[in-house]
This record gives sequence, structure tokens and C-alpha cells, in this order.
Amino acid sequence: MSDETYLCPGPCNRAWETAERIHHETGQPNNLTPNPGRPIWCPNCQDTINTHLLNTPKLVNNLGHGKLNTLAADLGRTSHPDPHASPSPAHDLRDEITRWTKRMEDETRTHLGHPPATGRRTINSAVAYLTGHLTPILNRDPDGIDFGATINTNHRRLLTATGYGQLTHRIPGQCLHCNRRGTLNRQNGEDLVKCRHCGASWDYEHYGFLARAASQGKPTKETA
Ligand SMILES: [Zn+2]
Ligand SMILES: [Zn+2]
Repeated sequence: MSDETYLCPGPCNRAWETAERIHHETGQPNNLTPNPGRPIWCPNCQDTINTHLLNTPKLVNNLGHGKLNTLAADLGRTSHPDPHASPSPAHDLRDEITRWTKRMEDETRTHLGHPPATGRRTINSAVAYLTGHLTPILNRDPDGIDFGATINTNHRRLLTATGYGQLTHRIPGQCLHCNRRGTLNRQNGEDLVKCRHCGASWDYEHYGFLARAASQGKPTKETA
């Protein structure tokens, strides 16, 4: 381990990062406290990574019949199909994530001095092993950062590719950055509230808190 202490690299610090950016751009003070890592990811983000990892096999197995295949099949019907184009981007994504997960199992077994995996190896068996040893993996400095971030990224890519990430919810209220109304969205499967106008983003969990904090001190009609 190095002497360096980490701020959690997870979505829990997006609100703080955004407040920092606003502070540098406008001078508005950042009253938030960043979440420290324990030792790298905070406990909440470790839970999120665990959930994303556990969801991965189901999402990977749902990929085969998704939209991407239909698209690829349509493209294949053109008279001069690109000979280098993948016949199925969905299968490519499935293979890529399955290979990565198995490679992480192999690397972790080597690192922890466990015997190599035996028997029929699937994404389910790799995920079962990895979730069983998640704490030492995420605490590995600095590899734990990349491991957790890749799981979160893969999860998002899978949600998009399977169509689960398509729904957009409108968040009422005013952007805390550009002050426009009606521009805030939350994408299904994402932990972020994003402003369509200025691109600012916040952790969903913290947005309500920030919005309330920002409105304090301003006279409101509700005030008795
Ligand atoms: Zn965190
Ligand atoms: Zn905005």
C-alpha cells in the first residue's frame, strides 16, 4: 500500500466533483465534504460494485436476442456488406465482458495464492469467485480502482445494449449549475442526474439534498 489516501473514485463523489468545478468556474464555495475511500472505495460504492457484478451474468445472457443483433442482421442484408464488420456486436460485447471477468478471476487467484480454476468455466463461475473475494480485490492499490470502475462501466454498457438503460426520467426543478428549469434528466440504470443544457451532473442520491441546501436562505412562497 502507498501512503496516499484516496477519495472514493465512485459516484458518491460526483456531487463534490461538480461542486469543485463550479467553485473553480464561479468562485461559489464548495461546502461539501468529499467521501474518503476505505481504503479505496467507500462502503456504499463497494456495495454498488457488488450488485453490478452480481447482475452481470444475467445481463450478459440477455444480450443474445437484443437490439444489436437485429441491427447486425439488417446490415448483413445489404448488397455489399463490410467484410470486416462484426456479424454481431452483441456477441462481441458478451465475449469481451466474459473474457475480462474470467481473466480477473485468474489474476485474483494468482494474487491471493489460490489454485487455478477448474471445471467448466462460465461467467457465472467467475462472478461467483470474484464476489466471494471482492473486498481484497477492491482494496488492492491501485488495481482496485480499475477493477471497480470497469465493473461499473461494463454494467452501464450492458444496460444500454440490452435496452434496460433507455428510459429517461425527467427530474423536476432547476439546474444548480445553469439555473435553467426542465433540463434535468435521469437515465434508467444510471446513478446520475444530468442537465441537458449545460452538461452538469450529480449523483442522484445527493441531488435532492443539494437542491434543498441551495434553496435555503431564499424566500419561498411556502414560508409561513
Ligand atoms: Zn463511494
Ligand atoms: Zn444546467
